[in-house]
Amino acid sequence: YDDRDGKIWMDGQLIDWRDAKVHVLTHALHYASSVFEGERCYSGKIFKDREHAERLHFSAGCLDFEIPYSVDELIAAKAETLKANGLTDAYVRAFAWRGAGPDMGVASARNPVRTAIAVWSWGNYYGEAKTKGAKLDIAKWKRPSPETIPHQAKAAGLYMICTMSKHEAEAKGCSDAMMFDYRGYVAEATGANIFFVKDGEVHTPKPDCFLNGLTRQTVIGMLREKGVTVHERHIMPEELEGFEQCWLTGTAAEVTPVGQIGDYNFEVGRLTLDIASDYEKLVRA
Ligand code: PMP
Repeated sequence: YDDRDGKIWMDGQLIDWRDAKVHVLTHALHYASSVFEGERCYSGKIFKDREHAERLHFSAGCLDFEIPYSVDELIAAKAETLKANGLTDAYVRAFAWRGAGPDMGVASARNPVRTAIAVWSWGNYYGEAKTKGAKLDIAKWKRPSPETIPHQAKAAGLYMICTMSKHEAEAKGCSDAMMFDYRGYVAEATGANIFFVKDGEVHTPKPDCFLNGLTRQTVIGMLREKGVTVHERHIMPEELEGFEQCWLTGTAAEVTPVGQIGDYNFEVGRLTLDIASDYEKLVRA
């Protein structure tokens, strides 16, 4: 994965993929001072290109650092990276972090902020589950309170419990894990938001302690445009039994149906399939 052909944009220039390296004393490696974006380019156009660049800036701000490239410069750099790699359909990873420098402790104001963009082909995030319905484990880790961590930042530190939860889920033969929040309400999966259907209406957790995904916002807009009622609210674990359909949303996940969460089963139903296909049409429009 590191030793391959291709170009990576790093701190303002395109360099060979295999040369895109950092020092072991990189601050981010020790203290998670890193923010990132996951984006998808469809037929040569990044869906929500500007929104992703803006969110990267917002996330850096939450971690108290400033990205040395403007939103417009990031947009241009993403296009340049896709072109240099000859890709029109790809996953785009833009990220920024506090590098190695004179500060070796927790504070790192004197260390340089580094920025990079890598792009690669990435098919279905959940493989076969994309059509058949994903099987989710129930994570033992809870999404933390908004007073514990800046939950609207797409920041590396928030993913430690996600990686642990996803590893445990995969070891049990599941595609992902559904996480509850610190109060015990249903929150999201480890890298995707969650939606439920009951009696023709949609219910989705209120994003008050986890990422309000761009795909989530897009899908809510699409549902409301179709005349479907969407409730953004706190969802109790015991409600899982009464939901008929379930799906996940995310840039990587797109719209992925869920067939099972722990012992609860869901059908890959009409609304799920319609929304998945509407989303597919929208991102390629
Ligand atoms: N929650 C988490 C924890 C994520 O990592 C992601 C992926 N960025 C999402 C939700 C979905 O966000 P988006 O739709 O903006 O990709």
